[in-house]
Amino acid sequence: MFTPKGFAELDVAVRDGRFVESGSGEVVDCRGLWLLPGAIDAHVHSRDPGFPEKEDWTSLTAAAAAGGVTTVLDMPNTVPAVDSAALLEAKAERAAGRALVDFGLWGLVRSSSTPEMLEGLVSAGAVGLKAYLGYAYRRSQQAVTYTAALDDTDLEAPPGYGTIALLAPTLARSRALVAVHAEDPELLRLCARPLRAYDDVLAARPALAEAIAIAAVGVIAAAGHLRLHLVHISSREGLAAADAARIAGADLSIETCPQYLWTTEADFDRVGNALRMNPPVRTAADQEALRRAVAARDIDIIATDHAPHTDEEKFGVELDRAHPGSPGVQTLLLSALQLTRVMGARDRLIRAVTSNVAERFGFAGRKGVIAPGADADLVLVDPGSQTVVAPESMHSRQKHGVLEGMTFDFAIRAVYSRGELVFSDGELVGTPGLGRWIRPSAGAGTLSGPENSPSAGARAPR
Ligand SMILES: [Zn+2]
Repeated sequence: MFTPKGFAELDVAVRDGRFVESGSGEVVDCRGLWLLPGAIDAHVHSRDPGFPEKEDWTSLTAAAAAGGVTTVLDMPNTVPAVDSAALLEAKAERAAGRALVDFGLWGLVRSSSTPEMLEGLVSAGAVGLKAYLGYAYRRSQQAVTYTAALDDTDLEAPPGYGTIALLAPTLARSRALVAVHAEDPELLRLCARPLRAYDDVLAARPALAEAIAIAAVGVIAAAGHLRLHLVHISSREGLAAADAARIAGADLSIETCPQYLWTTEADFDRVGNALRMNPPVRTAADQEALRRAVAARDIDIIATDHAPHTDEEKFGVELDRAHPGSPGVQTLLLSALQLTRVMGARDRLIRAVTSNVAERFGFAGRKGVIAPGADADLVLVDPGSQTVVAPESMHSRQKHGVLEGMTFDFAIRAVYSRGELVFSDGELVGTPGLGRWIRPSAGAGTLSGPENSPSAGARAPR
């Protein structure tokens, strides 16, 4: 069993959906299996409401449950985009009727967001606030949209560094976790080109664009005392910029994704348009740097950026028009476990998808940990059995994925959400509506524990 102090051979007891010191009643024999806390995916796109052909809350959380992910944190670029407390609450109500596992919700920062809108989102229970650099807001559709044509009067200008700088006092006061899509829009505009081959993708979205955006928001965060969360870091240069921001005093957490840790540009020949995503999967040197940063504790969190599109949108078109993003929530935990085979760091990798996420997002002691009082979100993993990533075992509405064909030396045997069995030996047994909306605790969000204490190793201030 994985305890807050690491692995130990222990019994675990559950009562009324929570872990307790000891118990009586039904006994489940788990000998030979690993008991892990349910994983938390800090970065998913449910597409619901807005894009039912891509995904919905039931299919998203079915995929999560089958992969041992018992909490998902959903990004705000659904339709309508979640830019107010009322829309956050409406989305929560919709999800609560459909989800099989628990969920938290991100709020959106627009270039026109007022302090009142952002404070409203935070007090309503947003897990964080996200600004999409370079992405405009289409007023008539209430949708976040990527476009270079800003002369369209239906479009509100994307939020920029100035937006975040001006809102910094509000963001700092609210203690909200702030995330940006970190690719510098001007550099992307100047590098834009037809995407005929994968080399064009790398040239169109250079690592420097990631580094510049991180440097800029890092300065704002350090000066304005923001709590920053850097999503989907994909490059060596991006990591270096994040390190520099930490040394300058920014309070930031760093997230990367399994696709950046498991695939490189060389995989395009094998998986084709499945590899198309923003920021792009880059070189072997970037992958190596990201793996080192996970091992060195510079990267705190692994999340999937689960971003499903239909087969037609991904594969029915040329690379240039393929929608960016891949499903991934179902393979988050297995990806993290498999990385232990190439880089060790087992406890750290487990924490990167469990307790680190809970601590940073305000669920410390409630989620991502097997300890008395915490929600009994539990995964039984067989370390002596394999799982092959194949379309027929995927529960997302979209069966393709960037990790298709990969073999993991682990298998998920059973998954419990707040003590209820939701997945067992290949079968979903949970029911839609079981999932609950979870909101961050007030004053939360500092990483702690033996793995994360500054004295555990030389590291920059956080
Ligand atoms: Zn995303």
